[in-house]
This record gives sequence, structure tokens and C-alpha cells, in this order.
Amino acid sequence: MSKSPASAAHYRPETRLVHSGTLRSQYGETSEALFLTQGYVYNSAEECEARFKGEDPGFIYSRYSNPTIAMFERRMIELEGAEAARSAATGMAAVTTAILAPLKAGDHLVASRALFGSCLYVVQDLLPRYGIETTLVDGLDLDQWKRALRPNTKTFFLESPTNPTLDVLDIPAIADIAHSGGARLVVDNVFATPIWQSPLALGADVVVYSATKHIDGQGRCLGGIILSSEAFIAEHVHNFMRQTGPSISPFNAWVLLKGLETLGVRVRAQTDTAGRVAEALASHPKISRLIYPGRADHPQAALVKKQMRGGSTLVGFEVKGGKQAAFRVLNALKLARISNNLGDAKSLVTHPATTTHQRLKPEDRAALGISEGFIRFSTGLEHADDLIEDLAAALEKA
Ligand SMILES: *Cc1c(COP(=O)(O)O)cnc(C)c1O
Repeated sequence: MSKSPASAAHYRPETRLVHSGTLRSQYGETSEALFLTQGYVYNSAEECEARFKGEDPGFIYSRYSNPTIAMFERRMIELEGAEAARSAATGMAAVTTAILAPLKAGDHLVASRALFGSCLYVVQDLLPRYGIETTLVDGLDLDQWKRALRPNTKTFFLESPTNPTLDVLDIPAIADIAHSGGARLVVDNVFATPIWQSPLALGADVVVYSATKHIDGQGRCLGGIILSSEAFIAEHVHNFMRQTGPSISPFNAWVLLKGLETLGVRVRAQTDTAGRVAEALASHPKISRLIYPGRADHPQAALVKKQMRGGSTLVGFEVKGGKQAAFRVLNALKLARISNNLGDAKSLVTHPATTTHQRLKPEDRAALGISEGFIRFSTGLEHADDLIEDLAAALEKA
């Protein structure tokens, strides 16, 4: 088996999702093999020496090199149009590595305030402890990004669409501002998925995923990945991950690799259904606000058209009557289950104010548009009519 997996980069994305990176052993297996091994044995001391010198392309130790993990990374590289990638045990291991590893005390990072809760912890609490200054901005306001730039600013970090209010940030414009100050832009692309948005093509320098979400898409494994240029991975990521070890298990990489085969089909079906759910909720008398990227009434509809190829598998809506009404809806749903997760084949429903964003001060939640009545709906693979009927019945109880 050779270390460079087969390239299918010249094919269209659907084909790459099935074929990119496949490595076949001497047995010629159809499905990608799971190499559940910690290490490797060598035919001679000379071969072992050559491998450590980087002259022989084989694998060394699964903390940083494994054939199943290499297949997952190669498939993601070709899907995303990146040069290189490293996968990690979780989405948070990937985010933390991407934003912490390149920085040192005295550097400065700017991030959009609308971040996944744990990302906000890394930016607001963790980085400052190591002498890295951070500034949070309203990501929609380009002037705030410009004003936050300092001579020591090294990284801009954002997610788009944002969690949970599904705002869409202008990636090309924010990348330009970062680059004008010599900084890099890191984009958490979980909500868009690689199917609907390619941040590297839009000017970002690094893209990170929680593969736990749509890439697995069936609620089984955690995982994450960082994709960027050869230079960024070699200079900032490779050694950090190799030596500190936030590595993905080959088993999880195998599940995620197989998840990629169906990613396009699943995300398209879930997005179509989400669009129908949004349509059904838009004029519902119990709902005061509906947010769905892909609808003409989305606050950044023009930007969605410009930088995304499709909408979202997520729908945000606010029920009238605050927390009590929202809880009554959640408790009355029969099909969509209460969870803090998303991107699953099963529809999942979240009350961000009391779960994912509970840690925030009430005024910070309000500034992000996370009201007490706000609900995040992650659309699964069920029939759209069943979900719409479930929501309609539950809203009767609001
Ligand atoms: C879930 C999530 C993460 C963290 O991923 P884990 O795999 O749970 O560690 C980071 N960013 C976003 C936007 C997420 O939704």
C-alpha cells in the first residue's frame, strides 16, 4: 500500500465524496479498510531509519499517521480544495489547534461574537490566559473588523452561518480586511457544510469542521478537521498535533470517511426539507420571527446568494410567549427530539437560551438575537410532511 491515496480531484464534488483518497491494500477491498493499529512494523532497521528521515513514505505511529485517517483527510482535502489537512479527535480539538497553535503571547486575535459556546470559551477565557489578546466584534459590521485590527493582529476567526441565529457574514470582505493587516482568516464552516460553502475559495486561509455534525450525520462519532495550505499545516499544525496528540481514532476516521460518501445526498435532502419547514412556519400565527438562509426574507439574502450554493439544514424561529411557550413546543414535539446536537439524520430541536448559550449574560444573549422564545431546528432525513405536521401540532400547545 502506498502512502499517497488515490486522487479524484479532477472529478465533480459528488464523485470526489465517494472516491477521493481511497487506499487499497493487497486484498483489493471495495470498501475502505479500517486500520485499527497503534503502530507499524518495519522489514529492516534501514527501512525504519528511512521512514523516520522522511525518505520512505510509510506510516510511523497512529498519533499522527494512519492509512484510514489519511483516507479521510485526503477526501476532505479534495472536497474542500485545500492543499493539506489534519484531523482531530473533536471539532473543538480542531478549532483550538487552528487558533491557538499559530499564536504566541503578545499576539492578537479578533473573532465574531456569534460563536459556538466552546469556541467562545477558547477565545474569551483560554487564549488571554496565555497572553494572547482577543477582541470580539459584531461580525456583520465590517467597520468593527477594520477598527479591531492592530499591528499584532494575527488571526480573524468567524463562523457563518452563525449558531444559532443563522446570520451570514461576508467572508470575502472580512478576508480582505484580515489580509490588509497581515492577518489570516479562520472559518468554522460547520453550519454551511462543505456542500454549500467553500471558505478557502472565498478568500479564507483556514477552514475547520466539527465532523461530528453533518459529516458523520448519523449521531455516532466525534471528530474534527483543519484544512489549509501546505505551509500553514506544516508550519503551525503538524508538529503541534503530532507532539500534543489531540488525534482522531482510526475507527472514528473510518466512520466519518464512510459518512462522506453520503454527505451530498443527505445535506441536499435535509436542506430541501428545511426549506419546506421554513415555508410552513413563516406565516404561522404563533411565530414572531423566522430565519432561514435561502429565503428571500433572510436579513443577508443577497450575501447568501453570493457566497453559498444552498441554504441550510437548520431553521431558527421565535415563538411568541418566551421560554414557557418555547418549552411547551419542545415538550409537545413527538418526532423531532430535544437535543443540543445538530446535523443528524434525526431532526433535533434546541432551546439555545437555556442550553448552548446558557453561559452568556442575558444582555449578551439579547445582543445576539437569542431570545427566550428562540428555537433552533436541525432538520433530519424524515419526510418533510411528517416534520411539518409534528411542528404544527406542537405549536398548537405554545
Ligand atoms: C459542534 C460544533 C463545534 C464543536 O465540535 P465538537 O465535535 O462537538 O467538538 C464547533 N463549532 C461549531 C459551529 C459546532 O456546531
